[in-house]
Amino acid sequence: MSHTLHPDLRRALAERVRYCHEMGIYDFYRREPRVSESTTAAEVDDQPSTFQEQREEMAARKSTVTAKAVAKVADENILPVLTPHAELSVADPITALKLIREDLGDCTRCKLHKQGRKQIVFGVGNPRAELMFVGEGPGADEDIQGEPFVGRAGQLLNNMIRAMGIRREDVYIANVVKCRPPGNRTPERDECETCSPFLMRQIAAVKPKVIVALGATAAKTLLAMNSSMMQLRGRFYDFKPAGLRSNDPNWDGCKLAVTYHPAFLLRDPRQKGEAWKDLQMVMKELGMKAPAKENA
Ligand code: SF4
Repeated sequence: MSHTLHPDLRRALAERVRYCHEMGIYDFYRREPRVSESTTAAEVDDQPSTFQEQREEMAARKSTVTAKAVAKVADENILPVLTPHAELSVADPITALKLIREDLGDCTRCKLHKQGRKQIVFGVGNPRAELMFVGEGPGADEDIQGEPFVGRAGQLLNNMIRAMGIRREDVYIANVVKCRPPGNRTPERDECETCSPFLMRQIAAVKPKVIVALGATAAKTLLAMNSSMMQLRGRFYDFKPAGLRSNDPNWDGCKLAVTYHPAFLLRDPRQKGEAWKDLQMVMKELGMKAPAKENA
């Protein structure tokens, strides 16, 4: 019998393992086969004498085949896909982010891939940032340029970052979904659930001290809470990326604060003062001082 796994079976196994990893399941156990792998089809054929025995024998033969298929997983060197995400084996966040981007590939995991996206917008900024901003999803400008927060909302975010006394290059910026929702609609729940494991991995790679969730979609996705912005703002949350281990034993999660999305602030500039209060809370946590005469 050939010792090569059928490509479809290999693909199905790899997909299943990838799914489990995204659900936070890393450990796999092999159940011992009920029938010895040395049992041959000829030996099996010698046994049955009744219909019931034949049925049991068919089940046993099937079990043998399944056990052999599992055993061949090791033979076929498919075990690398059974290990945790590749980025966990590297200490350097630049390499870790590169590995996550490679794993994302030309993603078709959710329906946003076929709803007019021009490109995937992964994330940008300092891979070792202490401060990370998480938005909702790319808009038209981001879709064209392949970078988050580059349109009008991005200009306002840049101003907010500058008001904190730092530069855009000092922070890391990403979104919950990496493909533009058509017409800039809010990403749907299944889209957020499908894409956000990659955001969680980015967070675990960057290992920030503080995350600022920009707007309700980012806050609700990261915190798995369905509260209003009024309820979510004004305090810190202890945050750990869902279902993930970090490659750094010294990083045990971070603080998370919620503020308004810059696009909302463009529509309602009266709330800029409230957003500035949120950022001042973050600055205090990070030991930062605003430059003189700067404001949001
Ligand atoms: S939004 Fe995320 S999960 Fe959906 S297709 Fe784009 S990259 Fe993949």
